[in-house]
Amino acid sequence: MKVKKRIFLGLSLGGLFIIVGTAVLVWYFFLNPGTSIRVVIRFLGLIIFALALLGFLGVLLLAVSLLSKKSLGPLNSIIFKTLDFIYPLALFVSKLLKINKELLYGSYIEVYNQITKLRFKDLPDADKILMLPPHCLQKSSCPHKITVDINNCRRCGQCTINEPINLSEKYNVKMSVVTGGTSAREIIKKYKPQAVVAVACERDLASGVNDVSPMPVIGVLNIRPFGPCRNTTVDVNEVKGALEYFFRRAENILEPNIVFNNKD
Ligand code: SF4
Repeated sequence: MKVKKRIFLGLSLGGLFIIVGTAVLVWYFFLNPGTSIRVVIRFLGLIIFALALLGFLGVLLLAVSLLSKKSLGPLNSIIFKTLDFIYPLALFVSKLLKINKELLYGSYIEVYNQITKLRFKDLPDADKILMLPPHCLQKSSCPHKITVDINNCRRCGQCTINEPINLSEKYNVKMSVVTGGTSAREIIKKYKPQAVVAVACERDLASGVNDVSPMPVIGVLNIRPFGPCRNTTVDVNEVKGALEYFFRRAENILEPNIVFNNKD
């Protein structure tokens, strides 16, 4: 289920208003400078206020890009810096308001996916795409350990992991089955891809995407009929769509025979 992007934007704006309110209070209570400590505190209040204003500007650019469905070219770097800044703020406000965090995570992923799609055409080069499905797509009773080596899968078709493997072969993209956020970050560090299609739950996707920002990532949520981390599935068409998106974008700047090796 797609979550509305406005949840993330609204919570971020809430966080920025809290910062502005704090800065105003600091100014109010330390209105009469007399001691050096008051001057320092008022100066800090001014910095916080300036940061919040920059945050508002970034959110405005983000909203313009999302609504117009257009890349803002060189301003994209400001958008990604803003995302880094406002994500923890949105998390803080969601905690304060006791909002289901999965809604925030899902909304953030939607925002990041769209910004990635709009921005990708700005990349000068795109010769590496990495697919990262989670290990919980594998049937829990399967004895073949595919996290060590994907080639251990016997392709019996009893679990969903078979589908991403088919896609990696069809598109000849690199693929690695990851056990969580840490292993995903390690693989990304190792292969240094220029674009990633990641499958995971809301929390892992949101924190992973935030960690590797501004890398182009399209996140696809897994489906959890048996609860978290066990015998999960994924909408294969969504994964296929994400891969094809990168290929369509890359068509203009890549040789038709795209250079990947999923065996290393
Ligand atoms: S497709 Fe079959 S062999 Fe491969 S991981 Fe799933 S259950 Fe195991």
